[in-house]
Amino acid sequence: MGYLSYRSGQQTVQDLTDQLLVKTENQVVQELDHHLSLPHEINQFNIAMVESGVIDLENLDQLHNYLIAEHQKFPQVTSVLFGNPQGAFLFVNDTELPKGNTAAQELQVEVGRFDLDNPSRINLYALNVGGTIGCYFKTIKNVDVRERPWYRRAVTTQTSGWSDLFQIGTGNVLAINAYAPFYNASQELEGVFSINLSLEALNHFLANLTLRSKAGEVFIIERNGLLVANSAGELPYRTSRRQKGKILEPGKVEFRRIPAQKSSNQVIAKATAALTEEFNDLNTIQSPQFIEFAMEAGKKDPYFLRVFSYQDDYGLDWLVVTVVPKSEFTGAIEANVRRTIALSGVALLASLGLGWWTSRRIARSLLRLSQASKSVAQGKFNDSFSTSRIREVDTLSESFSQMARSLQEAEQFRDHYQAKLEQEVTEKTLALSESYAELQLITDSISGCISFIDSSLRYQFVNHTYEVWFNCRKEDMIGRTVEEVIGAEAYQKALPDIQRVLAGETVTYEKELTYQGGKTRHVSAVLTPKLDAKNQVLGYYALITDISDRKQLELELKKANQDLEQLATVDGLTQLANRRTFDKHLQEEWNRAYRESLPLSILFCDVDYFKKYNDYYGHQAGDDCLQKVALIIKENCKRAEDFPARYGGEEFVIICAGINADNAKNLAENIRKRLFHRAIPHERNPDQNRVTLSIGIASVIPRPCDNPNDLLREADRALYLAKKQGRDRVISFQF
Ligand code: GH3
Ligand code: MG
Ligand code: MG
Repeated sequence: MGYLSYRSGQQTVQDLTDQLLVKTENQVVQELDHHLSLPHEINQFNIAMVESGVIDLENLDQLHNYLIAEHQKFPQVTSVLFGNPQGAFLFVNDTELPKGNTAAQELQVEVGRFDLDNPSRINLYALNVGGTIGCYFKTIKNVDVRERPWYRRAVTTQTSGWSDLFQIGTGNVLAINAYAPFYNASQELEGVFSINLSLEALNHFLANLTLRSKAGEVFIIERNGLLVANSAGELPYRTSRRQKGKILEPGKVEFRRIPAQKSSNQVIAKATAALTEEFNDLNTIQSPQFIEFAMEAGKKDPYFLRVFSYQDDYGLDWLVVTVVPKSEFTGAIEANVRRTIALSGVALLASLGLGWWTSRRIARSLLRLSQASKSVAQGKFNDSFSTSRIREVDTLSESFSQMARSLQEAEQFRDHYQAKLEQEVTEKTLALSESYAELQLITDSISGCISFIDSSLRYQFVNHTYEVWFNCRKEDMIGRTVEEVIGAEAYQKALPDIQRVLAGETVTYEKELTYQGGKTRHVSAVLTPKLDAKNQVLGYYALITDISDRKQLELELKKANQDLEQLATVDGLTQLANRRTFDKHLQEEWNRAYRESLPLSILFCDVDYFKKYNDYYGHQAGDDCLQKVALIIKENCKRAEDFPARYGGEEFVIICAGINADNAKNLAENIRKRLFHRAIPHERNPDQNRVTLSIGIASVIPRPCDNPNDLLREADRALYLAKKQGRDRVISFQF
């Protein structure tokens, strides 16, 4: 029984230690997630803004103001940067402005902007409290964005990621950069957005970790053993003493990262040494590991160490190490357990010595005791241990009571931590939801629909426009499927594009969609996949804008263009092709006939005595007559190759491709006869009493020495002859 109680005491110690380490670790992970996911979210958001056209990359002033607004919205972020392949470089950065330069209205923020004439020169300005760009204070040379490490890494990897840890500019700040390149539809790089994040906040967080044990430490290291952050309040880098605390000139600064094993904090140094000894290469640690180590070889008081690998979707790979001295836990509980063993030992010896006759009494008492201890095991700590008339059993009973109290204390100790953890989780969740609220605020001010949809096609984020479009509250949309929200009809139409984005492609489309409730909108959409480090699609961002008004304007514009085109090519009175179109068509047909050695004929038609007609019947009647003649000509041009046109006044021409002079003459005769039989009265026609037509024809198989005007002139000559020979006839020439 003594042994068993000893074992259970040991187990309690182990469980409590483990719980504390895991809880601390969970808290650290939560903080890291919160701290490190924001920069990538901002980058992805910026890219979505560019792809949807909200940010115009041609308008660098607008873009810069946008970056400044973002920097102000997210105080956790140290710098917001943009660069493009043409060398444009814009940024906004927390800094210490040079003393004496700081006017009252300026923030400790610098705004950097490349020189248009020389992209490798960057002009620095202060930022005013209202977010406007303030005084110029400096130019830095040789800072071409295309040479910046984050930009180069973005271009080489072609995907979002983290830079190595580095020192921002000349400040004493250890930082990390989240970069995201983006491409146009032809896969050409358009630019890179990036965010610098100081890791100071992490250090601060670890130092203030409430769950941390008194003598324990929590620290984060890279796989190469360099310190990232720690709870000991030690800076994870060193600077040369002379320059400490000053704004340092580039090149003069001495800024060195610290290997955790060389930390001035002994617990951190020794824990890292123990880790290295245990695992040899820190790269091999994948799953959480638990080890015990001593501060000095042979020294008793050991430490518990738990190491856990923290990885994110963008390639970050850190180790979180939590260290607690075993004594902090074992002290109180082990003392109790030791006393229990001693007392129960004595009780057992005594009871053996008393002999068999007392055994039944003892057995009865022990039975009660055993029942009470069972209650304890079930967590009923208040069940009293009844006293016995046998002293030894009383002693045993007392020792059990003591053990029960110890266990109760341990239980309370655990509950206390549980409550504390819950409170801290609530606080963190609140902080997270504040960032989320800021993001909501920005996206709500945009008139398009912005959403994030996970790979099971459920909404995880929607902005205010969704509420307006679908007449549904945001919270009622979250978790519902795209099909449920937008309706089956629109969903089926958008599905091929959704499948493409889920396959990892950035998709843009313009479509007319009829949504749930029957409302039809012409929309323009940009769907951008969200990928993890292994390029698995986690979901996609969608930006949908209503372009119904624009589409309507486009339709009207198209119609206006068609009308203009019509006006430019067609004769208004007769609706035949006009002179300009005729000239163009003749040249084309001439070239084709020349290439293919085919005959080409032209019919030149002129209304006889039309001046007299006009004079007698009036101009309006003249117009009507011309329309009738034009209609007869059009009706007879049945082949696709016959091309009639109004040449001018009462003259019409027909281009006949691919037919010889005889066939052309047949066509001309048909037209002439048709008009004749139509018998439109013409009182002043000295030859006939009706409107007639004279037609001259010229046919040729084009040769290099000829041109279309020769053909036209010949046709005109034939017409002249037809007039001369008495009108209402056809004369044909071939040359
Ligand atoms: P000919 O038999 O020798 O061809 O005699 P013509 O009177 O037809 O020839 P002329 O070239 O002397 O006269 C052409 C007339 O056509 C002159 C003008 O009054 C008339 N005309 C030209 N264009 C139009 C038009 O668009 N509308 C009307 N109503 N008349 C037109
Ligand atoms: Mg004429
Ligand atoms: Mg005439």
